[in-house]
Amino acid sequence: MSRYKALAERFGTPLYVYDLDEIDAARRQLLDALPEEFTLFYALKANPHPGLVRALREGEGRPCRPEISSTGELESALAAGFDGADCLYTGPGKTAGELDEAIRRGVRLFSTDSVSDVRHVAAAALAHGVSADCLLRVNSATASATSSIRMTGTPSQFGFDSETLADVLPELRTVDGVRVAGMHFFPLSNAKDEDSLVGEFRHTIELAARLQRELDLPLRLLDIGGGFAVPYAVPGSRGSYPGLRGELADALDTHFPRWRTDGPEVACESGRYLVGASGTLVASVSNVKVSRGRRFVILDAGINTFGGMSGLGRLLPVAVGPETGECVESATLVGPLCTPGDILGREIDVPALAPGDLVTIPNAGAYGPTASLLMFLGRPAPVEVVVRGDTVLSVSRIEHGRSYAPVDEPSARTVTGAAE
Ligand SMILES: *Cc1c(COP(=O)(O)O)cnc(C)c1O
Repeated sequence: MSRYKALAERFGTPLYVYDLDEIDAARRQLLDALPEEFTLFYALKANPHPGLVRALREGEGRPCRPEISSTGELESALAAGFDGADCLYTGPGKTAGELDEAIRRGVRLFSTDSVSDVRHVAAAALAHGVSADCLLRVNSATASATSSIRMTGTPSQFGFDSETLADVLPELRTVDGVRVAGMHFFPLSNAKDEDSLVGEFRHTIELAARLQRELDLPLRLLDIGGGFAVPYAVPGSRGSYPGLRGELADALDTHFPRWRTDGPEVACESGRYLVGASGTLVASVSNVKVSRGRRFVILDAGINTFGGMSGLGRLLPVAVGPETGECVESATLVGPLCTPGDILGREIDVPALAPGDLVTIPNAGAYGPTASLLMFLGRPAPVEVVVRGDTVLSVSRIEHGRSYAPVDEPSARTVTGAAE
């Protein structure tokens, strides 16, 4: 009996299985692809499970530092054994309540996206009698490579438009409670190949050097972003970047000749690359039916369990198997929800499936449960099992309940109350 079948029999389906050996391997592979002086942030957005975050802290090699964007992600980072001071807090809409909590828990490094965002960080820091470091996230006016999710060069809620930095910097320098500590770029996600990645990083490093020179911008930390790729819901392996380390060192030696000794500290960040391959989604076939000539396989996992992202307009090229043998027919793979949008894959190759059969979806460790429409139609969250090889380390389920808990006024505060 396969490991997945055994786990499904013990814990039911839908079931996520994460193998920490795979996370160790991913971290090693990514750290090896970067110059050894680099800091590597893990974006908890990809998967905030504390068991996975802990694996990225412990084990061999340098720990990944947490990149967080909410109080919930902060909780996960702390539960995984990190200190607030290890975290980089990002996001264009940090609220007063979130910032207060972050500062209280020791977070001192923020990526900021607007003048008011910087002011809000400052207000929270001052309220606690401390000072915080702000990276200015930069929305570059130009970009160099093609990417699947283009997050730069266009109007955006993310970052300061690079051409406006000269105008806003004098104001930012006078804000009490924060110090401008560097720049943060994130122009690219899931790069299609090493050339795109290298092209984007080279462009970023060159731009950072130019901005620093022209604006006399303090640069203790330079976060050049990520884009490291791994397949999503289809078989395959993580991107391999044999030339990256040399290219990055070369670009930095050119533009920041003393970077290794005098700074800036240089960082990269990744979500999916570090955890994507560690996860497998195990689901059961509830029903199989034919409608007007088209075969539908109805699973107990839909966009409430996996691929909420796909439910938001991106169909996944999902592949199932190999639990039940060779792919012999084509079917539309759907979930159990009462919406025609609950589709995991259209006309995909599947084995001959019958009710009760198990299917596995590979490379499902990133953007799983927490990126899904977990609450929609009121089913429980999937069980998540963390393993190392054949050893089960933890079994859990995100608690979202089905009741409407009363909220009293103070904790209902969502507006940003910081002084302008
Ligand atoms: C989403 C995000 C990441 C992680 O992206 P991956 O493609 O999962 O590596 C990293 N940094 C920022 C700022 C992000 O918004």
